[in-house]
Amino acid sequence: MFKFFALFSAVIVSFVGSTALAMDEVEFGKLLLPGKITVTNPFLDSCDSKIECGRSYKLLHAGIDYRARTPTKVTSPVEGVVVKRWYKGKDHSPQKDPWGTIMVETQGEKPMYFMFLHMSKSFVKAGDKVQIGCVVGLTGKKGTIFPHLHVEYKEIPSGWNRRPTPSLKTVAEIKKRGNISPTEAVLGTKAIAPTQKICATGN
Ligand SMILES: [Zn+2]
Repeated sequence: MFKFFALFSAVIVSFVGSTALAMDEVEFGKLLLPGKITVTNPFLDSCDSKIECGRSYKLLHAGIDYRARTPTKVTSPVEGVVVKRWYKGKDHSPQKDPWGTIMVETQGEKPMYFMFLHMSKSFVKAGDKVQIGCVVGLTGKKGTIFPHLHVEYKEIPSGWNRRPTPSLKTVAEIKKRGNISPTEAVLGTKAIAPTQKICATGN
């Protein structure tokens, strides 16, 4: 019996292990952007040693940056609803956000929050439903210097009132909940080729 259990556990572990390796930041990018995916700045939250991290020592980045010309269509990696985000007490719709943020909340018991930043145009507004692979907006450089797509993932809605830039507080929260990165969060999402259709609005 024990032997069987051990074998069973090994199968489970190897399955989970291989699944976790199945989607890296580039793979995740394929759910968001067309064409060749280049990560210009990776998700970075555990760079505590100089030996391990070299020049990146103590640099923190609570999201993933992708190279993206302006304008490039950005597709939603999940099914969900567009929500407003908070900053200093102001509730910004995607169109009015100073960082060009579009935030999508997945439905269900444990919602996930995906934020797409520096967008030059939003095709959706708060309350709109989005499907996997439909276009939410166009990349840009709103709130930053160089055009790129910055993607953040949160499990805690109170994280809304924070600037969408790397901060120790954000990173501490990510660590506390078990260091779940955006790529791990969408592991259950089946990779579907982007439809390149604008997300239906006003649903
Ligand atoms: Zn970034």
